[in-house]
Amino acid sequence: MRIENDPKLDFKDVLIRPKRSTLGSRAEVDITRTLRFMHTGRSWTGFPLIASNMDVTGTIGMARALHKHGAMVALHKHYPAEMLIDFLRAPESANTFYALGTAEADWDKLAAVKRQVAVPNICLDVANGYTEKFVDMVAHARETNPDAVIMAGNVVTGDMTEALILAGADIVKVGIGPGSVCTTRKMTGVGYPQLSATIECADAAHGLKGLVCADGGCTVPGDIAKAYGAGADFVMLGGMLAGHDECEGELVHEVLDGEERATKMIFYGMSSDTAMKKYAGGVAAYRASEGKTVEVPYRGPVDATMQEIMGGVRSMMTYIGATRLKEVPKRTTFVMVGAQLNTVFGG
Ligand code: 5GP
Repeated sequence: MRIENDPKLDFKDVLIRPKRSTLGSRAEVDITRTLRFMHTGRSWTGFPLIASNMDVTGTIGMARALHKHGAMVALHKHYPAEMLIDFLRAPESANTFYALGTAEADWDKLAAVKRQVAVPNICLDVANGYTEKFVDMVAHARETNPDAVIMAGNVVTGDMTEALILAGADIVKVGIGPGSVCTTRKMTGVGYPQLSATIECADAAHGLKGLVCADGGCTVPGDIAKAYGAGADFVMLGGMLAGHDECEGELVHEVLDGEERATKMIFYGMSSDTAMKKYAGGVAAYRASEGKTVEVPYRGPVDATMQEIMGGVRSMMTYIGATRLKEVPKRTTFVMVGAQLNTVFGG
């Protein structure tokens, strides 16, 4: 047994220190990035935010809405092939990842879709990206999809980030346990504070010219700003994008002032009892669920939430004097706050 005692930080443990700047207003900053994918040589320009491939948020409706903001969506894997083919033929699908796991059926469906339409972006998603089988799967995906951008995860350490990049991933998805409907930390004791995981994995990936996507744990626009400050090239959101019209979540209605209105939406983890009952006929005897089911407020169209997120990121950039999103990590100094300071310095 070993104990690592350098501090590992979450979003809540830090704030970004303001810096002197010549920027006058939020209108002067550019929140888009042009990112180059090392294995394909392709590049992409947009606002590097991705809706999670959870079945409430990773929807075709969300892809259409976020495309207008230059952001991306990883589609959930439960759409039938015909729907995916239809959508991937539409120009609005340009910012879309096709997500799949390890199941043979997922790979058969991908092969069927590829016979009809190009699949330019692939997201290989497993809860634990540390297995040899997963590294082999990434290598296989690279070999059979040489022109596709491949995002793979999840991991939380530099060594495994490097392994996935060398196996063929352009983007490594970072995060074990931070998700809003994730119970992995409680159920298994395993995890890694998300800000430190992002800093460490980004450092490892950038050394090899790879990219990272910080996945999970953002609850407010400031957390997204901190993730970019930590070096995230992309940020993936589940909970913050749940509860909108573009989601495929069940609405909860209440009677308010004599009128029945949608007030909440059911949102659940992809390895929660709810998801496992829906897709796999229940939780298998050998495993425990590592996700929970919650109600999030119903919030109408996602446009307003996107404006809020983009406004928060723009404002952060004016506070630290970054004209372009690319400059944010260099201009970021994190200061530790509150409880974390006490833990580190014994206060
Ligand atoms: P959020 O933005 O809601 O904090 O986190 C979203 C992320 O949580 C997803 O992209 C995914 O990586 C993770 N996630 C989704 N469902 C589950 C689950 O059931 N269990 C665990 N451990 N993680 C989940």
